[in-house]
Parts: sequence; structure tokens; C-alpha cells
Amino acid sequence: MYQGSCLCGQVRFQLTTPIRASHCHCRMCQKQHGAAFATYVSVKLADFQLLAGDDLLVQFQSSAGIYRGFCHCCGSSLFWRDSSSDEIAAALASFDTPLVPEHIPDIYTQSRAPWCPGAQRGTPG
Ligand SMILES: [Zn+2]
Ligand SMILES: [Zn+2]
Repeated sequence: MYQGSCLCGQVRFQLTTPIRASHCHCRMCQKQHGAAFATYVSVKLADFQLLAGDDLLVQFQSSAGIYRGFCHCCGSSLFWRDSSSDEIAAALASFDTPLVPEHIPDIYTQSRAPWCPGAQRGTPG
């Protein structure tokens, strides 16, 4: 069981059985997180539970059918979800329970920020 929360602590969640993780370098993740990339862990919706802060969780539709959840109070980026999928992705940096995935592939590296660690070395995606 893994638990996570936003910066102000009012939105809290828990999940089990992580399926996969990724460092996403797409422009939407960069913009939403204000960072070079976003690291997400995906789980089945059935393995995910929102424990608190349902009333504070804003779901921004960033593209057709894609919803990005953030805390209305502190702005923490927490989740993204494809409404046609039975999975949800949670931002690994919001976890309070340590989780170190064995393998975290870099995806959407064609939009990798030129100032991102690894960019100058030309690290392959
Ligand atoms: Zn918050
Ligand atoms: Zn992304």
C-alpha cells in the first residue's frame, strides 16, 4: 500500500499494485509541473482510492479525454487520466510512502527541455 498527498496535505490518496512508471517529457507535463519532466506511476482505477480532498481536486482537461488532477488549494499536480482507460497515473513526487520503480523509461523525449539533465549528453530516450 502506497500513500501520497499534495503540498498542503488536504488531498490524500492511496494505491496498490503499480503497473509501470515513466518520466514524461511532453510539453503538457512540463507546463503543468513547472519542471523539466513529470514522473508518473500508473495503476488500475480499482487499485486507487482518494482518501481525502475530493472537493479540492480540480480536473483540468488538457486534451480530448485527458484529465489532469491538481489541488485547488496548493496547486500540486497529482494525477492524470485518460477517460477511455481503466488506469490512473499518480505523480511519484507526491508519494509519502517510498516507491522506487525498477525501471522508469523516459517518454516524449523529442520535447525534452534543453536544460534537462541528460539533454546535453544526448541521452537516448
Ligand atoms: Zn493541496
Ligand atoms: Zn506528459
